Amino acid sequence: MSLFKEKHFSDESYIELMTIISSRGYQYIKLTDKFDGKCPTTKKRILLRHDVDISPAGALKLGKVEADNNVVSNFFFQLNAETYQMLSPACINICKELQSMGHLVGLHVDSALFSEEEDKIKGTIDWIRDNLFPMDYAISFHRPLPGSLGKKYAGFVSAYDADFFDTDYYASDSRGEDRFYEKLESLLNLDASLIQLLLHPCWWENETDKKKIYQLISQRRQNDLDEYLLFNFAKVFGNVIKRGDQ
Ligand SMILES: [Zn+2]
Repeated sequence: MSLFKEKHFSDESYIELMTIISSRGYQYIKLTDKFDGKCPTTKKRILLRHDVDISPAGALKLGKVEADNNVVSNFFFQLNAETYQMLSPACINICKELQSMGHLVGLHVDSALFSEEEDKIKGTIDWIRDNLFPMDYAISFHRPLPGSLGKKYAGFVSAYDADFFDTDYYASDSRGEDRFYEKLESLLNLDASLIQLLLHPCWWENETDKKKIYQLISQRRQNDLDEYLLFNFAKVFGNVIKRGDQ
């Protein structure tokens, strides 16, 4: 019989997922625990990772559910996502709020635009820390180059560091598919000493219908664009942009 009764992308299934992992004796860890002088107190550890490719609001929602269930996780925000603006007060506030709940907030690096070289990445995190909020010295790659898999860095920790990442002990809800449940269950049954579970907040937000997810993303971007134009160019666009119910 399956460990998980609720193999869906709902709040209930998320809580069930966290509860079952905890009941199997797993401790939720942050990538920087070692940096922070924290030693594991159990033999079984899980790194719960969230790459925020699409929805900071979804990230905040997951962060709250986790905090309510005494779970810490690792969020990675992207500077060049077309789905949200990381350099906005709203997104920075979400990052700070997640940290205040005890979660890690690091950088999601897209090598299509950014270098994967250590000093460049470190410089970016330093800039964010100097200007925006105290981002943790931790990263995940959007689409890692083969050379970055398993690599260790001195100035920050990568989610693909060999200490944390091994494809055999890794499960992910990529593409919003629920096949990860099977892999996770087999790893829990193996009593694997370290599991990395990558869950994308956008699949867990409130819709599983991909068309509705697309509509929500589009609507949010449109609202952000309208807000920006109205705030900065009110005299130009004030009569052009019609708000929601007009
Ligand atoms: Zn990504």
